[in-house]
Amino acid sequence: MAYDLTIDGIVVKELPLNDNDKLLTIITGKKGKMTVLAKGIKAVNSKRSAGAHLFCYSEFCFVKRDDRLWLDAIEVKDTFSGLSNDIESVALASYFCEVLSEVCVEENEEQDMLRLILNCLYALANLTAKPKWMIKAAFELQTMCIQGFAPNFDSCALCGSELKSLPKHIIFELTQGGIVCDKCMSEETYEPTKDGHKISPETFEAIKYVCTVPQAKMLSFKLDPFAQKEFSAICEHYITVQLEKKFRTLDYYTKNFAK
Ligand SMILES: [Zn+2]
Repeated sequence: MAYDLTIDGIVVKELPLNDNDKLLTIITGKKGKMTVLAKGIKAVNSKRSAGAHLFCYSEFCFVKRDDRLWLDAIEVKDTFSGLSNDIESVALASYFCEVLSEVCVEENEEQDMLRLILNCLYALANLTAKPKWMIKAAFELQTMCIQGFAPNFDSCALCGSELKSLPKHIIFELTQGGIVCDKCMSEETYEPTKDGHKISPETFEAIKYVCTVPQAKMLSFKLDPFAQKEFSAICEHYITVQLEKKFRTLDYYTKNFAK
């Protein structure tokens, strides 16, 4: 069958409307966020039911009628079935979906965000040796970089002067998106803001690493247990402070799984 639009996307939200229909929010690379009515998903032999679930990555096929695109079929590419073995992974994947649903925009190129969530869900479902704190933090930092909120590693967050070396004490100002130079810190009037956090050089280097490597390498680093905790906390703060958002799924994750 010739379709009017075929597009790859991942379901980040599903809302049952009645026994047979669902409203799906999908993130696609070329058309950004799309809200799609999936009709008759419970019908026997429905060409739509298999892919009409949260976390499913599929090719969505639409036909045009009355000047509207109607979903006709879904060809499933990956369901990330490994996720269902572990409730913590499902909780994290739900958080990633909520973030995408918030930051992605309709009719916008969202290829990078799509690739990011596919990489992270793949890691949660298949790379069980990768620690979850690392996948979560990498998702958070890479999201910020893609959204144009990458931290500044080269100059002081307050005065803007070039950072030739790391300051003696590293204060990461989350709202400003960078660290404070020795000179600014030595000012008598200097006080870190409530979103200013002292971090170790290891944490700083890990943040810089994740923000500057290609996605394929974002899960290839090591941190000692103390720095892990600090790094995880900073990445989570950074995304919530910069986006000025509270994520329901993050609250759930924190309450149930944060160590
Ligand atoms: Zn400065």
